Amino acid sequence: MGRRLPARLISDLRRLLEGQHASARSEPLVCCDACLALHFRAMLAEATEAAEALAGEPGFLRKVSKCEMCKRTVNITSLALRR
Ligand SMILES: [Zn+2]
Repeated sequence: MGRRLPARLISDLRRLLEGQHASARSEPLVCCDACLALHFRAMLAEATEAAEALAGEPGFLRKVSKCEMCKRTVNITSLALRR
């Protein structure tokens, strides 16, 4: 019943967000926990934990915004753009 931090999920998530950012214009990909869970075939709780962990690192953020995949306005995780 202990909490396990999904380390591989965090690195996969980082690659997803950074990869999209590098290849798609100047706008970072924003993605909610539910869509991340679907994308990585992970449990929602795991996706949320990985997203929160990644958002705690430099260059990433977490905020309420519109998810690019499901278009709902929820907590999303994204690369933080410095302009
Ligand atoms: Zn979504």
